[in-house]
Amino acid sequence: MMECKTMKTGRLIALLMAGVFAVPAVADEPPKAAAQLQAATKIAGADAKAMPLFLCKPHAGFVIRNALENGSKIRVEPTMLFDNLYSISSQFVGVLAFTTSGGIILFDGGQSEAEARDFVVPGLVKLGLDPKQVKYVIGTHGHVDHFGGAEYWQRTYGAKVALSKEDWTIFVKPAADSKLPHHDFDVVDGQTLKLGDDTIKLYVTPGHTLGAVSAILPAREGGKVYPISLLGMAALPPNLEPNDQASGLLAYDKSIQRFKKISADAKAVGYYNTHVFAADVLPRLAAVRARKPGDPNPFVVGPAYVDRYYDIVHTCTVGAEARSPEDNAWNIPIPPGTVIE
Ligand SMILES: [Zn+2]
Repeated sequence: MMECKTMKTGRLIALLMAGVFAVPAVADEPPKAAAQLQAATKIAGADAKAMPLFLCKPHAGFVIRNALENGSKIRVEPTMLFDNLYSISSQFVGVLAFTTSGGIILFDGGQSEAEARDFVVPGLVKLGLDPKQVKYVIGTHGHVDHFGGAEYWQRTYGAKVALSKEDWTIFVKPAADSKLPHHDFDVVDGQTLKLGDDTIKLYVTPGHTLGAVSAILPAREGGKVYPISLLGMAALPPNLEPNDQASGLLAYDKSIQRFKKISADAKAVGYYNTHVFAADVLPRLAAVRARKPGDPNPFVVGPAYVDRYYDIVHTCTVGAEARSPEDNAWNIPIPPGTVIE
């Protein structure tokens, strides 16, 4: 996560004086941002309550910081989503393993070497997968919580490690116990990656960073293909315009609208985000583990639902554009007594 400035002092004092408060009840929320929350809630409707409406709320940063500080410590049971798609994750962030006849592609590599070695590797083994088969680690973006463990896979298993060219420029400091990987290759927008009998398509979607990587993955179950839309970014960038760390909200929105169309053209029937707290992935992971034979796969939601997911992210992005960068910040300290919604 990127360092961010504290929020406006006046508001902080007001919040502290209020004691316990619900995050959305902030008086000086710009009307445009409040209207976008309403619009997103309408899009979510009754059947989509778990969609990422928090992105629309003032101080979404509290949700993100809470997930980082607390969710990181809670490990989710390693989960098989489809015959060729597996999740090993904390409640904050994790890796998505796509298996092929020629080996495994990991999206993200763990927050650190310790996490990769002591959690992701045993997680793969628990799922019946062989860590030696990891051929690629594709960073969804160059923040340490996604890519801190990447070098471990390169050194230990000879996996090829990649980010977009833009994001190699921001991944300059690994986790404390970890090293920087060599640049095996740069992900280029629209590139295909072939491994075994499978070919996946990768896209560069700037916004959250300078060049996040998103993908369309052919998940399989019972001989059928279920295209899954993997968005390589979650938190909205605080800034409107680009800076040296992130392309900003305007670029984020453009990427969301473009990737929505790419996902629709690919007939994506589901979506995933390695930030499992941010895209209603967590409840689906629990549901897929509890699934009984014959039950539908909770990750298959249909193209219209995928569309609505991206519409909500777009709607919230437009709302965030009305706020100051300080009020969109991710890493603000959480005032005691705050209710995280
Ligand atoms: Zn990030």
